[in-house]
Amino acid sequence: MTEGANQSDQGFQNPVAGFGVTFKAMFKKRLTEQYPEQPKTTAPRFHGRHQLNRHPDGLEKCVGCELCAWACPADAIYVEGADNTDEERYSPGERYGRVYQINYARCILCGLCIEACPTRALTMTNEFELADSTRKDLIYTKDQLLAGLTEGMVDSPHAIHPGTDEQDYYRGLVTEAAPGTVRQAAVSKGEPAVVDSEPVAPAEGAPAAPAPAASPAASAGSAAKPGQEGQG
Ligand code: SF4
Ligand code: SF4
Repeated sequence: MTEGANQSDQGFQNPVAGFGVTFKAMFKKRLTEQYPEQPKTTAPRFHGRHQLNRHPDGLEKCVGCELCAWACPADAIYVEGADNTDEERYSPGERYGRVYQINYARCILCGLCIEACPTRALTMTNEFELADSTRKDLIYTKDQLLAGLTEGMVDSPHAIHPGTDEQDYYRGLVTEAAPGTVRQAAVSKGEPAVVDSEPVAPAEGAPAAPAPAASPAASAGSAAKPGQEGQG
């Protein structure tokens, strides 16, 4: 075949070949998602909104170490740790996360922060509806990220389970709040000494006061889905 004939064939085939993808797609099944009416189920380990988890008695797992913030490549996490006291205890150990923020205008949902967390305090849920209309609303605070309360939990701050230490929490020996556990007043937040008509819990070592149970108001304040420990 001459060179001129080759060029003539290519000149005819190229436009037809260009429509090949179009013709193939015309006969394929449609993949239209009916969102938001029929949201698609995500994969089990999908990286969605973060969650700050609790121990089984309601104390917080976060120890305010900032490792998650240092691991974040997008500088999306801000943490301020503080010391627990016997009168106001948020986690079993020495420190807790007093301020915790994640900026979802920056976060790329890579999951490096949850890998860095030494206590499994930080995990990710399957929730992906994170869009909002202002940058300020995309900064999620600790109140929004903290997991809700499940049965057997009392909202923090409250005393450590009597007869246990921090290590026992990580060994799984504490499975629920001790009878008589009540929520302490959050002095650092300026809360009054009596919360929801319940007495302030005694300091560690002192006899436990009656009237256990988590306050409904405290439960309602947590935006995360109760009992859901996010995917890691
Ligand atoms: S998922 Fe990635 S980008 Fe988002 S806060 Fe964690 S480390 Fe930072
Ligand atoms: S979430 Fe984990 S890594 Fe981040 S400050 Fe708390 S304990 Fe440390």
